[in-house]
Amino acid sequence: MKQKETSLNTTEIKNIHAEELGDNHVGFSMETPIREDAFALDDELKIELIEKHFKEIMLILGLDLNDDSLSGTPHRVAKMYVTEMFQGLNPKNLPEAKLFDNKYQYKNMLIEKNISFHSVCEHHFVPITGKAHVAYIPNGKVVGLSKLNRIVRYFAQRPQVQERMTVQIVNMLKEALATDDVAVIIEADHMCVAMRGVRDITSSTITSEFSGKFLDGKNREELLRLITMENNK
Ligand SMILES: [Zn+2]
Repeated sequence: MKQKETSLNTTEIKNIHAEELGDNHVGFSMETPIREDAFALDDELKIELIEKHFKEIMLILGLDLNDDSLSGTPHRVAKMYVTEMFQGLNPKNLPEAKLFDNKYQYKNMLIEKNISFHSVCEHHFVPITGKAHVAYIPNGKVVGLSKLNRIVRYFAQRPQVQERMTVQIVNMLKEALATDDVAVIIEADHMCVAMRGVRDITSSTITSEFSGKFLDGKNREELLRLITMENNK
């Protein structure tokens, strides 16, 4: 049965005053604010509806959708939103992090550094691009290294606030690795700072979240030293 658009009651969305929030990226919750009926519509229908509404935005802006170059844009944007840029909203896309026995009995910190990601600022819907450094101290079990990249990407592929994304990755890794000894550092460029507002193209934002043994000064220092170490590749 085809779901109706009316099943998504968007009229009840609370009017949060954008003026109050201003350009400050504050006032966010640690969980991505998601509606209870977030997945009531299937992906196909979401694409269809977003296409329709994005077309409206383009028309209001005064663009001629009969132009060959623009006619396919609403569909392209809708498909990109649902299947790529925002696919990390849907828990069905959460990467499975299978644990393996730590055969080598490696007990030191493991760091996966410079994990590149692309996200979208939830206040302006423009890109955030950056690198995440993820570290953990194995507790008998390990995960495949690529899982660390995939977990970062999963949380990046949703409208985000960098501080929240940092904490979400730490929490997910704690659960997946069955240990509290996890740390995440993210450095990112926000297009909403570069292309509008203060138009600063040189600043970047660094966030970090340390947990378990990484709260210990010695481990934290070692992590920072290893991350900033020159890469001779
Ligand atoms: Zn922003």
